[in-house]
Amino acid sequence: MKSYYILYLFLIGSVFWASGKQPNILFIFSDDHAYQAISAYGSNRNQTPNLDRLANEGMRFDRAFVTNSICAPSRAVVLTGKHSHLNGQFTNKETFDGSQQTFPKLLQKAGYQTALFGKWHLKSSPTGFDSWEVLRGQGPYYNPLFLTKKGRKNITGYTTNIITDRTLNWLKNERDKEKPFFLCSWHKAPHRNWLPAPKYMSKYDDRDIPEPETLRDNYENRLSPASTQAMTIDKHMRDDWDFKLTTPKGFNNEQKRIWEATYEPKNKAFREAKLEGDDLLKWKYQRYAKDYLRCIDSVDENIGRLLDYLDQTGLSKNTVVVYSSDQGWYLGEHGWYDKRWMYEESFRTPLLVRWPGTIEPGSVNMDLVQNLDYAQTFLDICEAKQPTDMQGRSLLSLLKGETPEDWRKSIYYQYYEFPGSHNVRRHYGVRNHRYKLIHFYMIDGWELYDLQNDPNEMKSVYGEPEYEQIRNVMKKELIRLRKKYLVPEDNRPLPKEIKEIY
Ligand code: CA
Repeated sequence: MKSYYILYLFLIGSVFWASGKQPNILFIFSDDHAYQAISAYGSNRNQTPNLDRLANEGMRFDRAFVTNSICAPSRAVVLTGKHSHLNGQFTNKETFDGSQQTFPKLLQKAGYQTALFGKWHLKSSPTGFDSWEVLRGQGPYYNPLFLTKKGRKNITGYTTNIITDRTLNWLKNERDKEKPFFLCSWHKAPHRNWLPAPKYMSKYDDRDIPEPETLRDNYENRLSPASTQAMTIDKHMRDDWDFKLTTPKGFNNEQKRIWEATYEPKNKAFREAKLEGDDLLKWKYQRYAKDYLRCIDSVDENIGRLLDYLDQTGLSKNTVVVYSSDQGWYLGEHGWYDKRWMYEESFRTPLLVRWPGTIEPGSVNMDLVQNLDYAQTFLDICEAKQPTDMQGRSLLSLLKGETPEDWRKSIYYQYYEFPGSHNVRRHYGVRNHRYKLIHFYMIDGWELYDLQNDPNEMKSVYGEPEYEQIRNVMKKELIRLRKKYLVPEDNRPLPKEIKEIY
């Protein structure tokens, strides 16, 4: 009788364990996804029904930002919970030091199984993941090569779909169903050069995508960096790579046939029209925006596949779903594509979190949060200890709808990749709920934006007398944050020969 009783207690205990003391986390992460291209964020350009589902059933963060708006550095910040100057990934050029402390390693210690499928982009092999299959480098849109623990593997098809297939396969067939999981499904899309899946190649052909107000920005009223960049749709996009006036490489015969049947007529019409001036800019914007949005259509569709699977299996109840991007993106704002700047569109990033029973459905958070906070948030959700040397703060109380009294009122940013692609000058700065102060430190130039009066950041008010007090307050705050985050005074100096060309 006694042994039956012990067995009974054991079964009750197992059921309790399995029913959800430790939640699972599914972290869907995309690359270069502008919040302006998510309907839950009010996009006037596209519809993203599955991302909207996450927002409607969970929380939308409207003031989520990154600390360094570029791919590899952002991933390193997410993994370590530390700014670039401490995790060593300043730009896309370094190799990530995977021997350092990261949150997946800490989750493993806390009893989680960890898995990663998709884009990694940190050069060194993933550490802290029990299972992983990652794209080599940036990865292509079609027929990707995956690096795995067992070697290399080529898979035919469209990368966004394949990453989801691999994620679902792990959920269905490969994981240990007795253990809680932390699962990453990290997309290449919608990173440049925007090759859509066959089913979306003709989408938007029947309409124009609205242009952003600042598409024809002439960069007046700001310092020189805004005009010396090399990232305008008009002058810096390439006919072959970006506009695809020639057939992109990497297709198999069937994919190539579908591509040419769809794009050749559009390209022929473009060549015959011989567009110039503003008409040409309009065409370039439309070609770029449509291909970009088509890639997002696949991301959204694949998020739907994951959410459906979680619903069908009952996993939804105890699985936190997080969606974010490694940074924001210019979908034509200021005439640009790409990222890197502390200006809003690339500084901000989408962040949607669903957690049934904990997050109020349809809630919106306006607190200042950063990708620096993700590591500690994941550890906190999983009830694992947060190391004291991480630099963010758990978002758990925010997810529960409670903002602590002492939540931060300002955030720090620093960008390092100059010289580098797109010629964006190094800068650091501080943003609070209303103002943003930017220091282009190699030329010792300052910009100040009043985001309430000038949300598009078209005019720096740094030199205006009525902003003197704000300027001083923001400078003090900048000094405080640089101390708090242990930013070295010298900001990782440039080599001498580079200083001369700056
Ligand atoms: Ca990116």
